[in-house]
Amino acid sequence: MQEKPIDKEEILKELDEIHKLDNDYADGRILGSMCTEAHPFAKEVYCKFLDTNLGDPGLFKGTKFIEDEVIKSIGNLLSLDNAYGNIVTGGTEANIMAIRAARNHARKYKGIADGEIIIPESAHFSFKKAADMLNLNIVEAKLDENYKIDVDALKEVISDKTVAIVAIAGTTELGLIDPIEEISQIAHENNIYFHVDAAFGGFSIPFLKEIGYDLPVFDFSLPGVCSITVDPHKMGLAPIPAGGIIFRKEEYLNVMAVDSPYLTVKTQSTVVGTRIGASSAATYAIMKYFGREGYCKIAENLMNNTKFLKEGLEEIGYDVVCEPELNIVAFNHPELDADVLSQKLEKLNWKVSVAKCPVAIRIVLMNHIKKSHLKELLEDLKEIY
Ligand SMILES: *Cc1c(COP(=O)(O)O)cnc(C)c1O
Repeated sequence: MQEKPIDKEEILKELDEIHKLDNDYADGRILGSMCTEAHPFAKEVYCKFLDTNLGDPGLFKGTKFIEDEVIKSIGNLLSLDNAYGNIVTGGTEANIMAIRAARNHARKYKGIADGEIIIPESAHFSFKKAADMLNLNIVEAKLDENYKIDVDALKEVISDKTVAIVAIAGTTELGLIDPIEEISQIAHENNIYFHVDAAFGGFSIPFLKEIGYDLPVFDFSLPGVCSITVDPHKMGLAPIPAGGIIFRKEEYLNVMAVDSPYLTVKTQSTVVGTRIGASSAATYAIMKYFGREGYCKIAENLMNNTKFLKEGLEEIGYDVVCEPELNIVAFNHPELDADVLSQKLEKLNWKVSVAKCPVAIRIVLMNHIKKSHLKELLEDLKEIY
């Protein structure tokens, strides 16, 4: 740090210059991100709550009330009357909390000391972090030919060390929904904690179902589901960081509570201590602002763009990996490697991402990608072909 204070203007000028190195969602060139530009109203509300600390909720009773309301209303969206949980930094922290709850629950009630979690091969890498931090082993459940959990293979890997089974509602790479109803039943019969990672799909599947899309049940209406991750900072259009972890029962929070001596509350169950209340307030505001009707429109628009891209790709001869269930299209050139194709696109200033299972270019149709951008992209892909 320099010795003397510097003028605000000068600092801002420097920062603006550096900020130019960042990509801008509005350019429509970011094709592989699951995040997008937050809605301006959500950003406005976020700034008002910057000083709130939900780590010490007795000092911020208003903001704590807001967090509880958001959890209730997301719970409600997921067919749960009395939801427990927190607005956290994202899907990663939400998944870590879910796995920690499952581990502690199994340790307390079943005496499992060296537990395992069963996750699909398609699971987000956050579960690797969770397992590492929580000293759990990972057992992978194989996928079937449609890239979803193979239920028979899953049954085979259940053991008396299993502390949790994880399934995905909207996989990170392909946006697919696992057979959650069947898995819920298996988990329920075997008395095993079942976590659904709907970080990506949580803010779209309920709305798509509402407007008539034929998508499978994935939520708390299934008795085996113990917790669900939902990210408001993806299709919810809340500012980063906003993830949600929703628990069916309060006991899942209780089994991870530690004493918090110097605070206004006696215990704390979250991973982080001091934590932002602005994310809860912004999520609260944006959910009221859109309502179910607004989110239905957003979800439908994203699916229309998905369909437009998928059909456009097929028309010019690209192979689409699977029929999209949510707003992700994965595709390959019939001859070029995905990495080669991705380099060609990068040269044309498209920011793409390559999926690993299966290897393919993966485009996440978020709100910042408009039809006009897709037309440009298809033109470039036609040229490359
Ligand atoms: C995005 C995503 C995550 C991780 O969320 P972050 O907000 O990046 O921490 C976890 N699981 C799934 C299925 C996701 O799509």
